[in-house]
Amino acid sequence: MPVDATLPYDDQNIFAKILRGEIPNKTVYEDEWALAFHDINPQAPTHILVIPKGAYVSWDDFSARAGDAEIAGFVRAVGKVARDAGHVNPGYRLLANTGPDSHQEVPHLHVHIFAGRPLGPMLAR
Ligand code: 5GP
Repeated sequence: MPVDATLPYDDQNIFAKILRGEIPNKTVYEDEWALAFHDINPQAPTHILVIPKGAYVSWDDFSARAGDAEIAGFVRAVGKVARDAGHVNPGYRLLANTGPDSHQEVPHLHVHIFAGRPLGPMLAR
């Protein structure tokens, strides 16, 4: 069910439960600002999700409300995860679905990292 990214944060969403340790995940990286873990249904040889520790529905919510330190910490975490996994060369793709047209499914901001093969055109036609 696509997410309405303008709704208030729902702390029962699946990634909130992962952050609270209520359901398991395959963690790749964790720091003060972010948790990175493998997507349960990978769309590429590497498919990692990076989420902020704070309660933000979407990229829109995060970019509007998060503090500078949270934003810096999260963005650096995304870069570090991809770098440490060796994806800077030959390359990787970031995706942050926001709202219904994007098919966002989980109402906690997540950045997808796709890598491990040539990723093809940017969007399905
Ligand atoms: P969205 O469509 O919201 O951008 O992406 C949501 C992603 O979360 C999907 O790629 C989906 O496979 C992943 N996902 C959904 N539930 C879980 C879960 O319980 N664990 C993990 N690791 N990934 C999940």
